[in-house]
Amino acid sequence: MKIILDEFEFVKFNEPMSNYTAYKTGGPADILAIPEDTASLKKLLVVLKENQMPTYVFGNCTNLIVRDKGIRGAVILTNRLNGIEVKDNIITASCGISMAKLAAFAYEKGLSGMEAVSGIPGSVGGAVYMNAGSYGTSMEDILISSQYLDEEMNICSLSKSEHEFGCRKSFYTDKNLIILNASFVCTHRDKKDIKKDMIEWAKKRKSSQPLEYPSCGSVFKRPVGYYAGKLIEDAGLKGYSVNGAEISEKHAGFIINKGNASSKDILTIIDFIKTVVYNKYKVDLEPEVRIIGEE
Ligand SMILES: Cc1cc2nc3c(=O)[nH]c(=O)nc-3n(C[C@H](O)[C@H](O)[C@H](O)COP(=O)(O)OP(=O)(O)OC[C@H]3O[C@@H](n4cnc5c(N)ncnc54)[C@H](O)[C@@H]3O)c2cc1C
Repeated sequence: MKIILDEFEFVKFNEPMSNYTAYKTGGPADILAIPEDTASLKKLLVVLKENQMPTYVFGNCTNLIVRDKGIRGAVILTNRLNGIEVKDNIITASCGISMAKLAAFAYEKGLSGMEAVSGIPGSVGGAVYMNAGSYGTSMEDILISSQYLDEEMNICSLSKSEHEFGCRKSFYTDKNLIILNASFVCTHRDKKDIKKDMIEWAKKRKSSQPLEYPSCGSVFKRPVGYYAGKLIEDAGLKGYSVNGAEISEKHAGFIINKGNASSKDILTIIDFIKTVVYNKYKVDLEPEVRIIGEE
């Protein structure tokens, strides 16, 4: 396989995923590729498919726990697929553009809609896949369409309603499709006001979230009628730790890596939280974070 892939200069072998995950944990991926455009992505996918290599596509790896034994197969990171354009009030961004860049681009054009999601540290592809959202705005509120690559390498389009958006899920969830780009509808607004809101949301995020430590954001989806963080806090679990992983004192919905945590430490805490919260409140917490790799 190494010989076959040698023509791709953007491919690495046995690459620790801890170099890429927001958690700074995770074992090695057999193959890791960061293609610079859609053409090289497609070329690589053909080779991987011919060799029946399991393939995973990630954006900024901010909603990901990669188990400590790593990933058997190929990981494709999208961060070099970063085209962005605007037509009237519609912005189309490639999957690898970060939400921060998307929001900054909208701001430059005097376009509003991205202010509340500007602090989500993921990519456009990851945000659409997850129906990411914050402070009252989710992808389902601003997205109008997306394009993806299907397993036969066809470029397909999806209208807004076809995205089947739900709580941190979309049409793409658990499918082997590659989101290539997404289009967002904005409204014209005074740049000063856009900036003011972005600063406001950033301040709120900084004061309520442990951004000084590696994490994946909120570990669990919001259960109907409750807040996961509140349940965890009420169960007295703030500060609970396993080796270097700890339930944040600042926000109980976050499990942070205080320096030398392994993915196993984080996963042990996730299981512990689920058990304690279920026993106390009969609420079944469902992880929002994607968990992948060999046990
Ligand atoms: C400090 C912090 C704060 C956060 N705050 C928020 C928040 O306020 N709101 C929120 O919703 N989330 C939040 N998150 C979680 C995370 O940032 C979002 O879920 C984000 O959308 C994930 O994007 P990503 O590019 O990092 O995706 P990744 O973690 O790389 O991947 C997540 C999933 O998306 C899939 N995926 C990614 N790109 C593609 C693609 N191009 N095609 C197909 N599938 C793809 C992956 O296969 C994987 O299953 C936070 C995380 C952190 C660390």
